Amino acid sequence: MSFYTEAEPVRGAVLAAAPGIRRIVAPNPGGFTYWGTNTYLIEDEGGTAVLDPGPDSADHLAAIMAATGGRVSRIIVSHTHPDHIDGLPALQAATGAKTYGYKASATPNFTPDIALDEGDSVAGWTALYTPGHAADHLCFARDGLVFSADHIMGWSTSVVSPPQGSMTQYFASLRRMLGRDDRIYLPGHGPAVTDPRAHGTFLLNHRLQRETAIAAALATGPQTPSELVLALYLDLKPALRPAAERSVLAHLEKLRDDGVARLDGGVWTAS
Ligand SMILES: [Zn+2]
Repeated sequence: MSFYTEAEPVRGAVLAAAPGIRRIVAPNPGGFTYWGTNTYLIEDEGGTAVLDPGPDSADHLAAIMAATGGRVSRIIVSHTHPDHIDGLPALQAATGAKTYGYKASATPNFTPDIALDEGDSVAGWTALYTPGHAADHLCFARDGLVFSADHIMGWSTSVVSPPQGSMTQYFASLRRMLGRDDRIYLPGHGPAVTDPRAHGTFLLNHRLQRETAIAAALATGPQTPSELVLALYLDLKPALRPAAERSVLAHLEKLRDDGVARLDGGVWTAS
């Protein structure tokens, strides 16, 4: 098993993702976004639904408007991280479309016009509340196809950074998806995942290995997240160390939730 890759897309190109579904990759490439945020265009009865407007970018907005002819029926938000919603105000102003998102937004910058809860239907898609990467994360499922957003991606593991991110919730949401029988995931970054169950299992095992290593390290004595990163993440680029520390902290909080670790004066110990 390994991660998925794809060639850098032509900027502004409209890519076929599935029947009735197109993808435009926003011009915000980076270490956490791959080639950029995927904005999906989903044909529905009222025109075209836009899933995740992406970053605030005039070029990206122009590409969305050209591909939809401005006939945007609704704007759906998978979660409220900036790389997914910063472009929303401009898209909403240009189209007048109503916004859909999880009922409890994790940011004061966004309140959905139509609040979605677990199991709600939007344009024939069923919302799956899948917190972990973000506290307000939704996937959307229909007929074996799932918009997995940043919960499960092919190109990388998901960032889980407390307090908005929760490793306990991430594990639960990952196991939930593994309990389904989906054919394909269309993620928030990178190409489609065509072996959802195998890839999800790969991601889960990756996290379990990390969790086991952290628990084993704690058993040798009290540790801080930064000490654990130095001990466990070999060959880590210095620029990635802060993100690794957030991930280790997320694991430690899960171990605390599981009753096997505790925080004592800024230092984590086995309990
Ligand atoms: Zn993202």
